[in-house]
Amino acid sequence: MRKNADAIIIGAGVIGAATAFELGKRGYKTINIDKLPAAGYGPTSSSCSIVRAHYSSWDGVGMAYEGFSYWEDWPNYLEIEDERGFAEYMRSGTVLLKSKTGHHEKVLKHYRDLGVEHEEWELETAKERVPYFDFHAFWPPDRPESEEFWHKRDEELPGVIYTPGSGYMNDPQLTSHNLQRASESKGGEFMFNRRVVEIRRDGRVEGVTLENGEEIDAPVVVNVAGPHSFVINRMAGVEDEMNIKTRALRHEVHIVPAPEDVDYEHEGFHTSDGDQGIYFRPEAGNNILIGSEDPDCDPQVWVDDPDDYDRKVSRAQWEAQVYRVARRIPAVKVPPDSRGLVDLYDVSDDWIPIYDRSALDGFYMAIGTSGNQFKNAPVVGHMMAEVIDACEAGHDHDSDPVQVKTRYTGITLNAGFYSRNREINPNSSFSVNG
Ligand SMILES: Cc1cc2nc3c(=O)[nH]c(=O)nc-3n(C[C@H](O)[C@H](O)[C@H](O)COP(=O)(O)OP(=O)(O)OC[C@H]3O[C@@H](n4cnc5c(N)ncnc54)[C@H](O)[C@@H]3O)c2cc1C
Repeated sequence: MRKNADAIIIGAGVIGAATAFELGKRGYKTINIDKLPAAGYGPTSSSCSIVRAHYSSWDGVGMAYEGFSYWEDWPNYLEIEDERGFAEYMRSGTVLLKSKTGHHEKVLKHYRDLGVEHEEWELETAKERVPYFDFHAFWPPDRPESEEFWHKRDEELPGVIYTPGSGYMNDPQLTSHNLQRASESKGGEFMFNRRVVEIRRDGRVEGVTLENGEEIDAPVVVNVAGPHSFVINRMAGVEDEMNIKTRALRHEVHIVPAPEDVDYEHEGFHTSDGDQGIYFRPEAGNNILIGSEDPDCDPQVWVDDPDDYDRKVSRAQWEAQVYRVARRIPAVKVPPDSRGLVDLYDVSDDWIPIYDRSALDGFYMAIGTSGNQFKNAPVVGHMMAEVIDACEAGHDHDSDPVQVKTRYTGITLNAGFYSRNREINPNSSFSVNG
């Protein structure tokens, strides 16, 4: 018998699974299809899963701030038990270093406007609160191969913005598994080790065809395929009509031991160090997990085929990131072995996601997450379900964007902000900061 559903979701990463759960709550019978063997096994599993609110735009800050509450309320929100237990929200707080990027100025305005709890620390307070940091300014970001990298600096940073409510999820794959179980409790189904190779359509979307020839029918298909988003959009024939496009960017994350006399795992802050173009957070085993804010001095590797790219950590990039951390935390001992991982971001033209319908009726997308949307997964699930529900009921979302009432903070998010047809947003940081 042919399989069918009310909605097919391509991808079972954290956002794909969250979208399934939210649609399930609204009575949709969903099927997630993923080419990998389990939920969250793709880029989601490589995610640093940092939850912070310092985005450049009101909408970005508002969505992330709403996200804090989902993570705080995680088991309760899911309404289920999971035989593997629940992923945990580690409320480390965030230290955003004030830097010449000026990012903190945009952020502060939105924090005040939206009531995001925060403190401004002058330099002296910052030194007391994080005594193991060197607060010298190293701007502009550079690489250890250059001689200037090692020069002594005189200027110090003006201070930091501290947000106590932020942190990270300790296990991004388990987070996705939790969402899978929550979706299944609403009748959702997950098909793994299956690759979608065709989006069938006839005026509107009709369903998908898998690599093994199986056809599944549904009036709604949602592209949540991460770095493969452009591949799926081309299958659906919708990419050409979109003003904002997506492409895959290779990204490395590195790990080093924290200094032995610092209980970084339990007391360390997630830190956004725009002054050096890096971010870092505590990791189990008293380690420091380091990601890049893609400063201009570092190579950007755009990937044409998301199934074929170099997954080996590069020694040069490892050194660049680790030596930057060692400048900020001088007690870090740089080990001889380069540990880390490599995965892909699905980057949009302005590093702001696309959460939208498409020109093909019934075909939707939650893509272009640009290395910064793990934290928003449940909020996005809610937004996508609202947009799909409204469009399927005949609402013209393109000319009258759906306004999404949030669950926890009560703010209203304009889904039109994430339109595929927007102009490139000039206020974006054009980086992982969104
Ligand atoms: C290294 C790294 C660090 C990050 N750090 C952070 C962070 O600290 N904080 C934060 O908020 N965000 C972070 N992100 C971003 C965040 O992890 C992603 O935005 C999020 O995980 C995206 O989830 P998703 O469900 O959209 O897709 P993905 O996890 O990308 O999953 C997409 C799925 O689609 C499947 N798929 C693709 N094509 C097909 C097909 N044809 N057929 C069937 N299945 C298909 C894939 O197998 C995959 O499992 C990071 C990302 C990376 C890569």
